Amino acid sequence: MRIVFIGPPGVGKGTQSERLSEYLRILHLSTGEMLRQAYHEQSDLGLLAQEHIAQGRLVPDAVMTDLVAQRLELGDCRRGYILDGFPRTLGQAETLDNLLRLRDTPLTAVLALDANTDELVRRLAGRGRADDKPEIVRNRLEEYSRQTAPLVDYYRGQGLLQMIVGTGTPEEVFARIKDIVDQIAHTDA
Ligand code: ATP
Ligand code: MG
Repeated sequence: MRIVFIGPPGVGKGTQSERLSEYLRILHLSTGEMLRQAYHEQSDLGLLAQEHIAQGRLVPDAVMTDLVAQRLELGDCRRGYILDGFPRTLGQAETLDNLLRLRDTPLTAVLALDANTDELVRRLAGRGRADDKPEIVRNRLEEYSRQTAPLVDYYRGQGLLQMIVGTGTPEEVFARIKDIVDQIAHTDA
């Protein structure tokens, strides 16, 4: 399976992707984690990305699509993967589509997690990452509604979209995801 998770900051993409990757035994690829790791290593990519991340802004499309394209070429992606945090713009989504079309490996499903803004702000405040400061969170939420939210319609148009309520305990949310993924696995076979 090739699955994309989309959703606003703090909705739990990371947590749920992690669980789903264990359940399906496929890779979890988080672009946020990849960028934080690159920054930790002080690579050119990491230093460039950090300038955007620190402001709560998106890293430019060209940087992200190169990063993901290279990652998807590695052999460990052959058995499937979960993309967490990519695509985040229509440009990224279109580039990904082209890439996957060339390889004849289309996406299986797009899981869109949602929660209301108050809940997101509350969760992010409790997390304490450097980019979780209130004024930065405001920018990240704004980037989400301006650039990422349009992907919901984009993937609905492709018939790939599955909406998931992201409130409740992580276990409750995962139970919803598992139901959907189990259904897809059945109709896929
Ligand atoms: P979660 O739902 O797991 O809480 P998150 O919104 O906290 O997710 P990450 O996915 O970890 O955040 O991303 C952190 C930052 O990395 C983003 O705010 C953005 O600056 C940058 N980033 C990550 N992925 C992308 C992408 N595909 N395009 C542009 N910027 C990205
Ligand atoms: Mg994350």
